[in-house]
Amino acid sequence: MKTIGILGGMSAASTQIYYKEFVELTRRKLGGLHSPELLIRSLDFERVEKLQAAGDWEAAAAILNREALALECGGAEILMLATNTMHKVADSMMAGVSIPLLHIADATSQAILRSGLSRPGLMATAFTMEQSFYTDRLLDQGLTPVTPDASDRAETHSIIYGELCRDIITDKSRLAFERIAQRLVEQGCDCLILGCTEVGMLLNEKNVSVPVFDTTLIHCEAALTIAL
Ligand code: GLU
Repeated sequence: MKTIGILGGMSAASTQIYYKEFVELTRRKLGGLHSPELLIRSLDFERVEKLQAAGDWEAAAAILNREALALECGGAEILMLATNTMHKVADSMMAGVSIPLLHIADATSQAILRSGLSRPGLMATAFTMEQSFYTDRLLDQGLTPVTPDASDRAETHSIIYGELCRDIITDKSRLAFERIAQRLVEQGCDCLILGCTEVGMLLNEKNVSVPVFDTTLIHCEAALTIAL
């Protein structure tokens, strides 16, 4: 089994889900006492979030680049960046890194295409929904992503940073997310991308009326397949 390097802590709430999901998937696939070979580097998200808010993506990329190199030096053979948003700087993060990066948007696109679907709604941070680095990647793979309207995007972003990244789960926000998802379905989406690694804390196939693609779970499954 290859060692998977997880660059996480963005936020710590979802990095916990990554760890749990890897443990469960490995147990399910291999049985016995098997558990995943992981190297987890969990950053202080306050530091990264301040750079995001200031628009200083270069400084954020420099931090991620240092940490990606450290994971490679520590023995990681595959790299995962456990946040959709920070894939904005994936290219700079990978400067001088020779192990492969499993891009979260590519793993997700491939899962959607395998299901024969093509028009995903995208619920994510404002950065991911409004800048082109993520939606272009989906378009390149042949998908037609649809994002919520401005007020739904603002509400989604604020629930992610104000609650989910702090491990706060409320019925009010779950209902708000369900309504936003439903409005995307009404716009003709045939599936929904949980395009932020914390969105699965509120939405899943049980409370959304179209197939759900949770980037966190898909990312883990794809990485484990490569590792094994
Ligand atoms: N985990 C989030 C994501 O998948 C948001 C936090 C961040 O900006 O990294 O986009």
